[in-house]
Amino acid sequence: MTARRVPFLSLAPGPGSEDDMAVKAAIDRVIARGWFVLGPEVEAFEAEFAVAMGATHAVGVGTGTDAIALILRALGIGDGDDVITTPLSAAYSALAIMMAGARPVFADIDRDRLTIDPEHIERSITPRTRAILPVHLYGQPADMNAIARIAARHHLAIVEDCCQAHLATSDGRPVGTIGVAGAFSFYPTKNLGALGDGGAVTTNDAALAEKIKRLRNGGQTDRYHHQEPGINSRLDEMQAAILRARLPRLRAWTDTRRRLARAYRVALARAPISVPPERDSGHVYHLFVVRSTARRELQAHLAARGIETLIHYPVPIPHQPALAAVAPAAQASASSRSPCPRGFTLRSHRSR
Ligand SMILES: *Cc1c(COP(=O)(O)O)cnc(C)c1O
Repeated sequence: MTARRVPFLSLAPGPGSEDDMAVKAAIDRVIARGWFVLGPEVEAFEAEFAVAMGATHAVGVGTGTDAIALILRALGIGDGDDVITTPLSAAYSALAIMMAGARPVFADIDRDRLTIDPEHIERSITPRTRAILPVHLYGQPADMNAIARIAARHHLAIVEDCCQAHLATSDGRPVGTIGVAGAFSFYPTKNLGALGDGGAVTTNDAALAEKIKRLRNGGQTDRYHHQEPGINSRLDEMQAAILRARLPRLRAWTDTRRRLARAYRVALARAPISVPPERDSGHVYHLFVVRSTARRELQAHLAARGIETLIHYPVPIPHQPALAAVAPAAQASASSRSPCPRGFTLRSHRSR
């Protein structure tokens, strides 16, 4: 067929590129210093990431999943509590709720926007509900104005899953600053990726940030003095240094994603597939999603031409066996009637 292969993603920094040089200089700096966990790089990255995300505080943690679980823990949400979230996301969104000891409750999605539907949230609220976890899926923010009104009316916390939405804005407001806190992931495929795992919490609440700093480090107040049962979930110095090297370029990379998304929209305007509408110009296109009623055939057609695609996500979260204990049959069947999007994603370029 064709000689040209279009991989879904290419994660190696291009040899000799600016990214490659910046990342290597960061790694060398950490090795030369000989300080590898919770040191000056993490502290500097937290300050820089908070500024970049428009938040007053950021706390580096081990993963995006831990970021969600730690926020819930810090808010005192756990055993006996419900957190309303979306059935369409990386399963980690719901697994993080379970890690905190709470139960995920699935509210259906908006058919076009593909994020949690505020009307369905309102219908899912019970006396056990403590928080709403919207996911800014594929980089498009959830309908935060409507979600904030519901949360205020029912005195619920909003915890934002921003793992696919670095620099996204909802109606002009930075994600991760609209609810009580935001959870970010730096898994290598994310819009800002490390060379390993990493995550962060953003918040404008100083006390919450302090609590999460304790909880990520075993609940220590002073070295070897554990005040509460925390966990071990620290961003390491190497990843923090790499993220510091990349953060200044995130704005330009995001512009590239948006430009490519516009080009895809134009090019696909007459193709026999549907492209979900952009409902907020703050979309950062973590993925570029298309929907097709002939998904398998289309995927094979593109694969034959060297173009890789992936399905995001093949199984709705409540249908995952891992969720069987918390997603009762009624809940699961309600969501199987839901518009499980027959979507799959083309690469949303990550230029270096
Ligand atoms: C990646 C991702 C997570 C989990 O982040 P990790 O750093 O892999 O733990 C959670 N939610 C969403 C929406 C994600 O895309």
